[in-house]
Amino acid sequence: MALIVQKFGGTSVGSVERIRNVARRVAKWKAAGHDLVVVPSAMAGETDRLIALARQIQALPDPRELDVVAATGEQVTIGLLAMALMDLGVKARSYTGWQVKIVSDSAHNKARIVSIDQQRIRADIHAGRVVVVAGFQGVDGHDNLTTLGRGGSDTSAVALAAALKADECHIYTDVDGVYTTDPRLVPEARRLRHVTFEEMIEMAGAGSKVLQIRAVEFAGKYRVPTRVLSSLTDPALPVEEEARSGTLITFEEDPHMAMEKAVISGVAFNRDEAKITVHDVPDRPGVAYAILGPIADSNIDVDVIVQNIGHDGMTDLSFTVHRTDYAKAMKLLKSQVQPHIKCRDVTGDDRIAKVSIVGMGMRSHAGIAAQMFRTLAEEGINIQMISTSEIKITVVIEEKYTELAVRVLHKAFELDQE
Ligand code: ASP
Ligand code: MG
Repeated sequence: MALIVQKFGGTSVGSVERIRNVARRVAKWKAAGHDLVVVPSAMAGETDRLIALARQIQALPDPRELDVVAATGEQVTIGLLAMALMDLGVKARSYTGWQVKIVSDSAHNKARIVSIDQQRIRADIHAGRVVVVAGFQGVDGHDNLTTLGRGGSDTSAVALAAALKADECHIYTDVDGVYTTDPRLVPEARRLRHVTFEEMIEMAGAGSKVLQIRAVEFAGKYRVPTRVLSSLTDPALPVEEEARSGTLITFEEDPHMAMEKAVISGVAFNRDEAKITVHDVPDRPGVAYAILGPIADSNIDVDVIVQNIGHDGMTDLSFTVHRTDYAKAMKLLKSQVQPHIKCRDVTGDDRIAKVSIVGMGMRSHAGIAAQMFRTLAEEGINIQMISTSEIKITVVIEEKYTELAVRVLHKAFELDQE
């Protein structure tokens, strides 16, 4: 018998019929002898609707009050799900985040969980109940409602699993696992049976959006085995089969992981970025800071950064930003930074893409970068920027080559083969 936390996303609880299906699925696990804590999101589209309502009143909604509004979506689904379970003869009880208490910091709209009180949940589990807890929400030290950022119920589920030392956290969603790359781009993409936390974090950072990145970081830090699996399968699928389905995000030491031995686990891509180059910057201490300091102060995230080797006392600095921050960053650099550091020019390009290969095996294999660059060269794809970590190589290329680059890399690293 295991303690399992199961999270169901907005689509999975998007209608009364789907909520009944979730209840059937949960009831099946309960009948197999497991203890369950279930975390639903709001019904699909509901959080968007609530935020839009708030924006009709205030263009920039007050952050505290926005949380009061946005947190209601999950209060509906926990109640409905508890009822659907009761209807199947399963003892169940629902709690909001503040009833539990899921305590967070006070950063409204993007709060971080700091602690979870287990008392009520433990007592209910002991009494044989399925406990249904609202995702996405918490309460700060002064009893203000908070929410954890969009997609935050993934983090709620993983945090509950960590606090309760659950055996596994199941994230049910509308895809059946983590793939070697986006199957919409590459039909040969395969579902990974296992992947490490480190790889998942790199893939999420590189554009793969199966789970909220914060949830994966949480799972890695507190070592919560987390399984991504489909909520679209038959709810009556035997428990033993469901328990092996999807993708398990796990530790490198997991014996399953050692068996897979892939050098590269996935190809990720991101078309949401833009590139900025600051030309002919005086090559002296403090210049990178003079450029990127104001960018950071304006809350603009910078990703790939490349500085050229200096020539004649001058250098160029290039970096990428989120495409939605592109105009703001360009304006800031031209109006404030350029007059100050006296660079020759600031140019930008928002038709770029980032393509990354990710894999733990990179650490013990030489020549992976060379193989990646050769593969791209053979297709005539020019590499504009390169950055690497221990388990990831990222290139910035022209956006129109994204699909081609992903496809040829997927093939070159034999990700289409079992
Ligand atoms: N309902 C929230 C959202 O849409 C949280 C979640 O779905 O994870 O962002
Ligand atoms: Mg969601």
